[in-house]
Amino acid sequence: MKYKKIIYADYAAATPLDSAVLAAMQPFFVDEFFNPSAPYLAARSVRHKVESARAEIAKTLGTRPREILFTAGATEANNLAVHGIMQQYPNAKVLVSAIEHDSVLEPAKKYNYAIIPVNKNGHIDLNRLEDMIDDTTVLISVMHANNEVGTVQHLSEVGDMLMAVRQERRARGVELPLYFHSDAAQALNYLTVFPHRSGVDLLSLNGGKIYGPKQSGILFVGSGTKLASLIQGGGQEEGLRSGTENVAAIIGLATAVVQAVALREQESKRLGELRSIFSQSLTSRAPGVQQTVQTDFCLPNIVSLLVPGKDNERFMMELDERGVQCGVGSACSASNDEPSHVLKALGLSDEQSQTSLRFSFGRQTTKEDVLTIVGHLAELICG
Ligand code: PLP
Repeated sequence: MKYKKIIYADYAAATPLDSAVLAAMQPFFVDEFFNPSAPYLAARSVRHKVESARAEIAKTLGTRPREILFTAGATEANNLAVHGIMQQYPNAKVLVSAIEHDSVLEPAKKYNYAIIPVNKNGHIDLNRLEDMIDDTTVLISVMHANNEVGTVQHLSEVGDMLMAVRQERRARGVELPLYFHSDAAQALNYLTVFPHRSGVDLLSLNGGKIYGPKQSGILFVGSGTKLASLIQGGGQEEGLRSGTENVAAIIGLATAVVQAVALREQESKRLGELRSIFSQSLTSRAPGVQQTVQTDFCLPNIVSLLVPGKDNERFMMELDERGVQCGVGSACSASNDEPSHVLKALGLSDEQSQTSLRFSFGRQTTKEDVLTIVGHLAELICG
């Protein structure tokens, strides 16, 4: 075979499990399999380890342990955030940004919802958002970092604005609360995530994007934020998410969170440099290729491209044959042939969207890898 090395460039879809995470999880599959709610000593020791994992995550994110709720991934965390608020206020309004993941958009569509538009780089306009808020608005969801194009939102600016709106509402005697949720599934590897500093009431994280286990996640629920539970039963997780805890996943998630935060600065810098090398080299070797967004306020590891004249599905398969694994649009929607709603919200036509490819880099990506990808792209585009 001509192309031997497989180059994985789809870290925004999934990250490989880190070896330290695997090692931390292993005892809980067999030796320490006990149900943490059981009364005997061995089970109580497992309960203690679950609570230590919660405390460790809380310390890393600057929250209280009881504000950390374990879920099976970000989809569940996002659903719980939206339904958990909206079920209590079914006649109130929820505002969601146009580039949210479907796990926020779809739950929001069950209620009275409105879409917060974004500009061509994927940023929301704070003034526009403020204008959209009325006395029936109870929830606002704006993602921290977008999974398709990498755009990062200024969360604390939204948080500050909402604080002022709440004060003004209180002064007028409006009793409806106003909650702020953010989907930070793509953020923790590269951005500072301190929920209290950003002024969010609810924040979702995803183990499967931070070299932890898939189907592991967190919903930060600020104290003072009341949620309706979607899963009833044994009353685990403060009654908000019944079901025997997935102990191995929780322990693995805690290890992954601590490690992601420890590596954040170093990896952000390294991948930012690799992204620049990738973009500059691509510009000189395949000048017709465009970057989907042009902003410095974006994740250092995601590059979304438009390759004029190329059908992205076919192009992605040609790259795959050469050993390069990348994404088209969102790999998180399993069965959707529609053009991406994110690219549409940026103002791209369906035709343009069908030429988009997403490269996302991670811990195993090297300079040689990004230059090899550019080489393949240039050969396929320029012949
Ligand atoms: N939110 C964002 C921003 C994502 O990128 C993803 C998945 O890629 C999700 C939510 C859903 O994550 P999961 O499918 O692991 O639950």
